[in-house]
Amino acid sequence: MSEQKKKSGLWWSLGLAATGVAGAALFLLRGCWHRHMSWPIRVQEHSYQVCTGCGVKRLFDERAFCAYGPYSYDLQRLIAWDRARRARLGVQPEPPAEHRSAS
Ligand SMILES: [Zn+2]
Repeated sequence: MSEQKKKSGLWWSLGLAATGVAGAALFLLRGCWHRHMSWPIRVQEHSYQVCTGCGVKRLFDERAFCAYGPYSYDLQRLIAWDRARRARLGVQPEPPAEHRSAS
């Protein structure tokens, strides 16, 4: 069991490293600096921008009004990255709704 956990953790780290490398490789392969990002697109509790040049995606913080995190063509990967980041920071995605009256 613990061996399995170690392995998935290793793959997770490799995935994050690969994302950073992929971001650098994108410029080398496509010559795209992602200067022209689309207007933020909202999906569930996340917002992201799409590069109009190469189609790569990046998460967007609506409150700070700036993009953040790695570039990726896979939105699910970005969302997974953001969830891991929030968990690491101890930020809850949404406060639990406790509006029950004691009746
Ligand atoms: Zn681009």
